[in-house]
Amino acid sequence: MKNSAISERKNQSISRGVGMTTQIYADRAENSEIWDVEGRRYIDFSSGIAVVNTGHRHPKVIEAVKAQLDRFTHTCHQVVPYESYVRLAERLNGMLPGKFDKKTVFVTTGAEAVENAIKIARNATGRQAVIAFSGGFHGRTFMGMALTGKVVPYKVGFGAMPADVFHAPFPVALHGVSVADSLAALDKLFKADVDPARVAAIIVEPVQGEGGFYEAPRDFMTALRKICDQHGILLVADEVQTGFARTGKMFAMDHHDVAPDLTTMAKSLAGGFPLSAVTGRAEIMDAPGPGGLGGTYGGSPIGVAAAHAVLDVIEEEKLCDRANALGARLKQRLESIRDDVPEIVDIRGPGFMNAVEFNDVKKGLPSAEFANAVRLKALDKGLILLTCGVYGNVIRFLSPITIQDGVMTEALDILESSIREARA
Ligand code: PMP
Repeated sequence: MKNSAISERKNQSISRGVGMTTQIYADRAENSEIWDVEGRRYIDFSSGIAVVNTGHRHPKVIEAVKAQLDRFTHTCHQVVPYESYVRLAERLNGMLPGKFDKKTVFVTTGAEAVENAIKIARNATGRQAVIAFSGGFHGRTFMGMALTGKVVPYKVGFGAMPADVFHAPFPVALHGVSVADSLAALDKLFKADVDPARVAAIIVEPVQGEGGFYEAPRDFMTALRKICDQHGILLVADEVQTGFARTGKMFAMDHHDVAPDLTTMAKSLAGGFPLSAVTGRAEIMDAPGPGGLGGTYGGSPIGVAAAHAVLDVIEEEKLCDRANALGARLKQRLESIRDDVPEIVDIRGPGFMNAVEFNDVKKGLPSAEFANAVRLKALDKGLILLTCGVYGNVIRFLSPITIQDGVMTEALDILESSIREARA
């Protein structure tokens, strides 16, 4: 089979709304590597967009899923429940930051977790309004889309959006928005647009993912917590992309002194199987009446089995420590070429949630072209990279945290040569 032939069939059969970063069709994958249908090998620095922190087909995850397949695959937890669902909730309740009683609900996708977090927050507070941040990404469902702080391609042509969603600027010093600017904008929002007494929740990614891998400063998160407490607003941390050892801690909120009331999780929670969750303060989670939450596939036994194995692997293989070591290596390599590549304006990110940002040297403006040129050169050499950012000028690195040392060296060499060649 040829990639190009499948690609042509794809153009005839699949909505173009499903954007695609590559035209290589997967045949098989193992840890940090993917082989396409033509037998070519790629190093995967995307992890299916932050889903396989524990690598493709981690043996323990596969073993757990196989064992589950042999017992039952679906009963619907709302009809005939299973203990593994309860145990996974207990594990997450014990792991999430915040010294208070917690409860959990499982659904299937990141967007669905976000939808449910807002449903729960509205139900618990009796309020309607929600505040999110520009550049943020929260999914492609209606509320997820409304909360997302980027118009093209996520919102264009899809209105009307759900009402009562407001945006404040996310603090990114590199782009001239300080923490003080961001807080002042929130204050103005409360004066000009929405009574804080009507706000149910403020939702924030502790490190913006799709928006460009910008980390929320510690004083910003502390200030958000204070504002929420002052006005009876719930703080929701969207950890869909940041969770499960990516930032060098189990959750990105573990880097902060304050805890959110609700946390959304998905992606690497189940290492390649669809599962998402909302975990939060027990009394808030209990606000919706029976039947108000859930879904046919929510907390699929297969996803739940995978998630138990993922949590074991993160602990047994000390993936938080490994994320820190790998991220340090990556950032060091990028720093080592910085003097030769004036297009590099920033190298950043906690743990192994790293990014490099490029500008056009002559214009001094973000250069999506340069980032894309690096991405395509790397792909040509067998390394899958993803871009991100409001300006599309950021390359984000989302390799499995289980990547083998030798494969990592290979990837860094490809990355370096791709950046150097993109200059030519
Ligand atoms: N929230 C965040 C922070 C995300 O990064 C994403 C996915 N990129 C989502 C929500 C939506 O997740 P899903 O695509 O599984 O619906």
